[in-house]
Amino acid sequence: MKSTDNEKAVSHTSIFEKQLLHKKIVAQSTLKQRKAKLKKLLGAIEITYRKEIQKALFDDFGKSPAEVDLSEIYAVTGEIKYALRNLKYWMRDQAVSTKLAFIGSSSKIKYEPKGNVLIIAPWNFPINLSICPLISAIAAGNTVILKPSEHTVHASALIKRMLNDLFEEAEVAVIEGGIDVSTGLLKLPFNHIFFTGSPEIGKIVMRAAAENLASVTLELGGKSPTIVDETADVAAAAKKIMWGKFLNAGQICIAPDYVSVHRSQVNAFIAASKKTLLDFFGEDTANSLDYTKIVNDQHHLRLNSYLEDAKSKGAKIVHGGASDLTTHSFEPTLVTEVTADTDLMQKEIFGPILPIIVFEDIHEVIDTINSKEKPLALYIYSSSQKKINHILKNTSSGGVCINNNDLHFYNHELPFGGINNSGMGNSHGKFGFMAFSNERGIYRQHIPGAVEWLMPPYSQLKQKLINLTIKWF
Ligand code: NAD
Repeated sequence: MKSTDNEKAVSHTSIFEKQLLHKKIVAQSTLKQRKAKLKKLLGAIEITYRKEIQKALFDDFGKSPAEVDLSEIYAVTGEIKYALRNLKYWMRDQAVSTKLAFIGSSSKIKYEPKGNVLIIAPWNFPINLSICPLISAIAAGNTVILKPSEHTVHASALIKRMLNDLFEEAEVAVIEGGIDVSTGLLKLPFNHIFFTGSPEIGKIVMRAAAENLASVTLELGGKSPTIVDETADVAAAAKKIMWGKFLNAGQICIAPDYVSVHRSQVNAFIAASKKTLLDFFGEDTANSLDYTKIVNDQHHLRLNSYLEDAKSKGAKIVHGGASDLTTHSFEPTLVTEVTADTDLMQKEIFGPILPIIVFEDIHEVIDTINSKEKPLALYIYSSSQKKINHILKNTSSGGVCINNNDLHFYNHELPFGGINNSGMGNSHGKFGFMAFSNERGIYRQHIPGAVEWLMPPYSQLKQKLINLTIKWF
């Protein structure tokens, strides 16, 4: 029997209440206990469930096992291993200096868990983008309700089964469902909400969080520009861009969204890109086991309409373009002569279509980037340090890769996140741990301090001391 909306909401509230009661125990968990949970998760992803994860993602959108290994399994196991190596340093109180005027005191930062947290995940890397924030939340000592995406049903069901096997519901619970479930969860007074998805839904999440003054991490999307200038190694650039763009059939938040290529390099870039695509996926991408499908009808139709809109405004398809709604196959597609007023240049593409824009002067490219929302990532292919510096100085983005794309995601030492429309707050490594922690500033007085000399009544002598304090400390 199907449960009604009301029954679902009651059961979600009761899970939340269980976690509310349990949060103190989880918050006070030791380094050893948190590492034990992470090791359990590592064993499950790396060994016990690896084959099932590969199968689920193949069933959801035809993703190849090798690609699942690289972009889902390795992303998660790398994050866990890094956390296991570093958690003892992250959890430690951090001593900070105290100014001389406060002599006789000391200061430190204590990282305390935020408490009860909600993670809402998207469909495009359903394991990676559900489990990586979960790792940070567990490392920081929080209870978690995780809501995976309703669009990848096999992955979502598997995440639920796996986490049910590994954890008590009072510490980690998975609640499956779509917008109605998400909306219900957002009404609960979580201490922190970690959302990965589109900027449009990010706004809804932030509005809901405001009702409870819950803090938020928003990992959003947008148009990540890529630049290939006149000094770039064009063949190497084309190979890396084709990989970064057409991995997961372009359904990646940090995929190169469009590429601006210097006029002197454009013919070589197109030729090298076409050759790379044939080398990667062969002639028949619809039947290539190495090339992912589009996730559902809605996204397939959206991508086709972007292409039709661009064609109607004069764009030329120089590679690919064919697609099949029944199988959700969509060829890797390169498009030139794309005008600024097309959907392809106005909206996040999030699929296997790459507009190639020709430029003569880098300022045209910089102006285009700055006329749009701040992107999640910016990719620069150049061998001129001066030009790289100039682009960095005159633009803003969540992250940057120079002479590569997408790989900043895999370096746990770097904060991963966007800015404004592409997100706020960061994930990965210590940055993820901090997203789920309250940095509690603790000041301690050890012996009577000089500040007491500055308390009322304010005599002339005290005023002189105040003046000295302002001048020297
Ligand atoms: P989405 O915003 O449609 O959905 C994300 C999650 O929000 C899902 O779990 C969904 O159920 C939930 N949701 C949808 N509508 C909702 C509503 N009205 N109220 C409450 N919850 C709602 O995103 P998507 O289609 O799953 O993913 C694609 C988007 O995510 C792209 O914009 C992409 O760039 C972005 N993304 C960002 C990152 C990142 O790390 N920055 C990673 C992956 C995807």
